[in-house]
Amino acid sequence: MYAIVNKFKYKSGKSDPSMMVLKCCGNLCPWRLYAVRLKDSELFEIRSIINNHTCSVNVRGGYQTQATASVIGELMKTKYCGIGAGPKPREIRKMMRGDHDVSISYWKAWKSHDLAIDNCQGKCTDSYMQLPAYLHNLVLANPGTIADLHTERSQDGENLFKYMFLALGASIKGYEALRKVIVVDGTHLKGKYAGCLLTASAQDGNYQIFPLAFAIVDSENDVSWEWFFQHLASFVPDDPQLVIVSDRHPSIYKGMNEVM
Ligand SMILES: [Zn+2]
Repeated sequence: MYAIVNKFKYKSGKSDPSMMVLKCCGNLCPWRLYAVRLKDSELFEIRSIINNHTCSVNVRGGYQTQATASVIGELMKTKYCGIGAGPKPREIRKMMRGDHDVSISYWKAWKSHDLAIDNCQGKCTDSYMQLPAYLHNLVLANPGTIADLHTERSQDGENLFKYMFLALGASIKGYEALRKVIVVDGTHLKGKYAGCLLTASAQDGNYQIFPLAFAIVDSENDVSWEWFFQHLASFVPDDPQLVIVSDRHPSIYKGMNEVM
């Protein structure tokens, strides 16, 4: 990253697992860095650096090849922390050209984009791994919460994510005081594993949306909607006055009829 920001190309000199020497690619250029690996760590500490160049512009031009997707992903990662989606691949190309004089393909920008998100927010797969512990603690911290994680066993004996349902204790308690009109809907998720978000909400006395429950499922189909209604029915009892509003997706109708 430093070499890209300062536009020069380096090569490794003498290196072994415990130390490394980096040199500028310029023939007689004095730039040189010596770093030692910290004990029991992946990190290196710079022990000495000669930080000036006498190399030619031609030699330095080669620095662009060092801009691999993983380096760009590291350079860009802070842009994906916090609120908002962060730059799109197209914008990464523009920033690399504008800020660093490096042209990259759309494909490389797209890969860098994914790596930058992983670097900043952690990998998608890691987030799924944390779900059981997260839901467990959520229920402990919010009494009355209904959280269910449905997994399936793969052929290799691994537990694979299938569905997740969540209704916070506060939503369940609040529903008792609401009119018996529930709006359900499903929408596509854009993440790496796609899937669908199913939601149920009502309206409070202030005419504001009152979230009741949501679920992550594979897609809007008969089985997934039925699974959703089964969980919803645990705190939304059937009632002659109960009205369910939907976009009349056939699976909603079917799932609802099975359960309620
Ligand atoms: Zn140099």
